[in-house]
Amino acid sequence: MPVKLADYFVSLDTYEKRANVNFVSHAHADHMSGLRASRPCIASEATMQIIEAKKHRKFESLQLPKNARMLNSGHMLGAKQLYIDSEHYGARILYSGDYQMQRSPVAEPIETIEADILILDSTYPYPNIEFEEKELVIGAMQSYMRDKLNRGPILFSAFATSKAQEIIRICNDMGITPCASEEVCRISDIYCANGVPLEYQPISEKELSSRNVYIAESRKIDQLRMELSRRHSRIFAATASGFAKFMRFNTDVQFTLSDHADFKQAMDYIEHVAPKVIYTCGPSSETFARNLRAFGKNAYSIGSRSKINELILYNTEKQ
Ligand SMILES: [Zn+2]
Repeated sequence: MPVKLADYFVSLDTYEKRANVNFVSHAHADHMSGLRASRPCIASEATMQIIEAKKHRKFESLQLPKNARMLNSGHMLGAKQLYIDSEHYGARILYSGDYQMQRSPVAEPIETIEADILILDSTYPYPNIEFEEKELVIGAMQSYMRDKLNRGPILFSAFATSKAQEIIRICNDMGITPCASEEVCRISDIYCANGVPLEYQPISEKELSSRNVYIAESRKIDQLRMELSRRHSRIFAATASGFAKFMRFNTDVQFTLSDHADFKQAMDYIEHVAPKVIYTCGPSSETFARNLRAFGKNAYSIGSRSKINELILYNTEKQ
């Protein structure tokens, strides 16, 4: 069973047959799979706006009961954690999808709160993967762009939601107004409407001749690269992703710009939450839980989130 909240059973960023409400922590596709038109949704206003722009339809949103609240997760615009001070379980429960302790230039900073039970996503489960300070990565990106732009255009492939906006802001801070794909512009408009000022322009025929920074999602990159190569003898292909820490991309340069917590940040986050028990979820949950236990944390993998109600009950009845 999913998590019980007042009269509802809430699924957490995933599809659950027995849930009648979906919590969507943020508007990345891998956290939106539980969305159904027939069920109300718990999400921030900004997340709802991005979801509706992506899905081209409206979803009913549910007001949270008094014993629950959402807190910023620092991951992207509108991204939230779900906190429930539950009489039913006799415990304070905190669910966190994607989050980061570092400050994103285009997201609200993370808020933390103490809880008894922490349910945690497991994107970077290994202690040896450690991200540099964001300021250093941003500095490296800016000096690369300064160096290359007088020789040719720079083409960034990035997720259209959140990473693209971060790159736009990084460009804006050095006086560049980048050209962005239609999808990136559409999502960036929502960022602007929610108080994140960004300067960008759509990619036009005329613009393709200029030595500028171009930003597009990966499925659009090949076509854009081809169009730019007709007008420029040299194009610099770049990408920015946390996965650049251990994966090689087919680009001239890759920057480890992550909007996730690495293991060290996860430990810091856990210190703030001070949970009695941690349930890890997601594809790397076994590894993450094992590594957290090696660092003295009371952590267990739940793999899928479908038994979370039973696990919380088991845990709270034990106490
Ligand atoms: Zn995400």
